Amino acid sequence: MHLLGSRTTLRRPSVIVAGLAALLVLTACAAEPPAAQPTASESPSPAPPPPSEPAPQPSFDKAALSIDDPASLWVVSNKQRPLDPVDFAPTDLVVPEEVGNEFAQPLREPAARAAEDLIGAAAAAGHDVWIISAYRDYATQVALYAGYVERDGAEAADRYSARPGHSEHQTGLVIDLDDHGACYLDGCFGDTAAGAWLAEHAAEYGYIIRYPEGKEAVTGFMPEPWHFRFVGTDLALEMRATAVTTLEEFFGLPAAPGYTD
Ligand SMILES: [Zn+2]
Repeated sequence: MHLLGSRTTLRRPSVIVAGLAALLVLTACAAEPPAAQPTASESPSPAPPPPSEPAPQPSFDKAALSIDDPASLWVVSNKQRPLDPVDFAPTDLVVPEEVGNEFAQPLREPAARAAEDLIGAAAAAGHDVWIISAYRDYATQVALYAGYVERDGAEAADRYSARPGHSEHQTGLVIDLDDHGACYLDGCFGDTAAGAWLAEHAAEYGYIIRYPEGKEAVTGFMPEPWHFRFVGTDLALEMRATAVTTLEEFFGLPAAPGYTD
């Protein structure tokens, strides 16, 4: 069938990515050296062979990328850590392709490609997931936050909406996802089949649930099972493997329950 054929073609990159991720995990866990070594002619300066004794897991380099630079895939933005500059705007925004996207908002290129793969894999697993929010610029957040404060008051708004300059959406690395069900931007999204699938598999595509259950005192936000932050597969899989669920705890940063001013 035409549709099936086209979907299969679209899904292939995600299968490759998932396969590579599985291969990397297997490689990291294997005690034996890899079976196939490149020949000297193919690789002028080959890496030394891995030690034959079972080596401990290589320690994760938490300083590999900046957590301060707003253009870094690991930037940690919270109520204590405004983006610097506060009106930061990414330079590699693209609109994800072949996925539902309510407001056609863009994402940074690596986050967009990963979102395509994540949503494609969700579809292959039977979940009709679409993007309901992605990049929002500083001016948009100014208007959005002001509207929430006017509606609910500042104290309530601060629990669910970031002040301008503190919003992860402004990094271009965040997607809010939905399943066309009854839990649009609602805590019950985590209890849906799609929400549960995303929570289990997002890390394989480099995404984490940024505001997990039970961590409001650390992240400053109530649980948002729909809000997925791209950090790349290295960090996302390391967080999953070590069962550390917040960027603040992973990087040893102070909890950020509220704003200083
Ligand atoms: Zn969000």
